[in-house]
Amino acid sequence: MDIEKIKSELLATKAEMESRLERTHKHIYQKDEPVSANFNEQVKQMENDGLVMALEAEGLEEVAQINNALHRIEDDTYLLCANCGEPIGEKRLQAIPYTSRCIQCAK
Ligand SMILES: [Zn+2]
Repeated sequence: MDIEKIKSELLATKAEMESRLERTHKHIYQKDEPVSANFNEQVKQMENDGLVMALEAEGLEEVAQINNALHRIEDDTYLLCANCGEPIGEKRLQAIPYTSRCIQCAK
């Protein structure tokens, strides 16, 4: 298994996630347009913000998982399950490169 390749892929995904998060964050917290005076518009806007915030939380979680995987590569424990210590398996790592658990423990 080519760990260096996985590492560069993880770093690329992380960079992409971070730039997306930055845009999302700006979208939520640095609005250029003034707050609409129309109540219905405001409700719609708030619902929209809620959705974007949920996406942001999801993205932050994914970045945390990628960071964790990168640490595991540095520690040479990347191929092993963080829970039971058994090999995670090549197929599973290829499908979910930032997972830290084998399929048994993930259940
Ligand atoms: Zn396990």
